[in-house]
Amino acid sequence: MFAGKTTRLIEMLTEARGHGEDVCAVKPAIDTRYHATNITTHTGTSLESQTIKEPHELTALHAQVIGLDEAHFFTTGLHAAVLTLVERGRHVILAGLDRTSMNEPFHEMGLLLVEADIVHKLTAPCAICKRPAVHTIRLFDSTDPIVIGGEGMFENRCRAHLNAPRRASAPSQPPPTKP
Ligand SMILES: [Zn+2]
Repeated sequence: MFAGKTTRLIEMLTEARGHGEDVCAVKPAIDTRYHATNITTHTGTSLESQTIKEPHELTALHAQVIGLDEAHFFTTGLHAAVLTLVERGRHVILAGLDRTSMNEPFHEMGLLLVEADIVHKLTAPCAICKRPAVHTIRLFDSTDPIVIGGEGMFENRCRAHLNAPRRASAPSQPPPTKP
């Protein structure tokens, strides 16, 4: 989506660490786009992190502040794991998409939005009119909810242009990035 989610997460975790808090950055093991383990933005900003395959692995972490990137990649179990951490007094920061490119709640992110004390909604410019976009459309044909993508695979769209045609040059196949 290129709205700056990962950048904001790195900023928040770096700030907490600067205040002397014990911080742990985490990302899904399937996301190896920019770096095998570090949380990394598409512009190259990076923070050392742990990788997890399942959300329950979060509950084994001992850091006071736990920041998870690409939280929407997890289909089930994230809501329960985050609540467990919060009940233990931990500060949990999640970065992720709230809705799929089919405009539906992304897995458990809707439940987590309800639980969140603070929500920062970030937007990127609409690909057509440059106004703030809250939607993402796919430039390829796939109904798989999780496609690990990058530039040229998705397009940001404002509400007015959600159903405007895809670009003619868009690829018709999803890239083979999912393990
Ligand atoms: Zn627009």
